[in-house]
Amino acid sequence: MNKFQKNAVPGVQLLNAYQPGKPVEELERELGITNVIKLASNENPLGPSLIAVEAAQSVMANVNYYPDGAGYKLSLALAEKQGVDQSCITLGNGSNDILELVGRAFLAPCNSAVYSEYSFAVYPLVVQAAGAEARVAKAYESDHPVMPYGHDLNAIYEQITATTRVVFIANPNNPTGTWFEKDELNHFLSRVDDDVLVVLDEAYFEYMPEDLKPDTQKLLQQYKNLLITRTFSKIYGLAGLRIGYSISHPDIADILNRVRQPFNTNMPAQAAALAAINDQDHVSKSASLNAAGLQQYANAFSDLGLSYIPSIANFIAVNVKKDAMPVYDSLLREGVIVRPVASYNMPEFLRITVGNEQQNSRVLKSLQKVL
Ligand SMILES: *Cc1c(COP(=O)(O)O)cnc(C)c1O
Repeated sequence: MNKFQKNAVPGVQLLNAYQPGKPVEELERELGITNVIKLASNENPLGPSLIAVEAAQSVMANVNYYPDGAGYKLSLALAEKQGVDQSCITLGNGSNDILELVGRAFLAPCNSAVYSEYSFAVYPLVVQAAGAEARVAKAYESDHPVMPYGHDLNAIYEQITATTRVVFIANPNNPTGTWFEKDELNHFLSRVDDDVLVVLDEAYFEYMPEDLKPDTQKLLQQYKNLLITRTFSKIYGLAGLRIGYSISHPDIADILNRVRQPFNTNMPAQAAALAAINDQDHVSKSASLNAAGLQQYANAFSDLGLSYIPSIANFIAVNVKKDAMPVYDSLLREGVIVRPVASYNMPEFLRITVGNEQQNSRVLKSLQKVL
């Protein structure tokens, strides 16, 4: 241990940094090729809404000024869209920022947080950085008939103890793409103590089939300990601008606001997000393209005799039935970047972001070749 590692606070000493997907330019540099495709970070293959891009550009001449720290216009528009009061909205530098704020405000070495196996990598990071105890619930088994690797909300409930301050659940979850039913969620929320904060991560909400979407407004009315996080990074295609938000009881929003940076969301991001929520056409097109892509993968995997985890997100996890790392490496040499998920304890899986039809075909052809 070097002296800076020793001096880091206990939770940070043994922390492993989040591993992002490999950038296209890096691989092109390494291989000396140019037609690399990246389906590794769940980005929207249609790109951002053009209206959102224009909105971001239109404020660029004013970036000598600080942004509106409260994000008044955007949070008002989000509140109206959700049918909640503006005081329920907290903006974040990506929804990742909101997860960090939760850790900062509610987690400490004396308490604990609960999340499931195979859930989003940021939860363990946030919990560990705070020095809190991570209580990891068993997920459904790999041979579960309906939701293999999915969140088992009963098992998650069982992990809650007197020290637990936060529970993280994702619907659908990343990297599995799995989901839970509305009544399962209701049953779970009705049992959790009302002083335990439940973070419901809905980064892929807009991709969900309508009948699986919980009623946001009703849930928030009913459960004052619920914090729902959403993002503009996924279906809205604004990952590079870093903007997300949460919806919760104003008492929770008030606490998060105390620990956020005064100007945590930037001016072009606020402008783009505001425009993006009004570009329903872009959202619908993105959702349909994704649904078709998920079907394309499901069909192809069945043809190839590969099992996969049913997904309602914009990615799908496929089981390559052997160590997925060499398969990932071979795909890189084909100019295709996907995501190995060994760090999630799923060493035989690759997580593939749904691209456009040609991109999906290219991944599938390359996958067939390297297998
Ligand atoms: C992508 C993702 C996020 C956060 O993305 P931001 O870009 O920080 O908004 C949060 N949760 C899950 C499950 C995700 O997959």
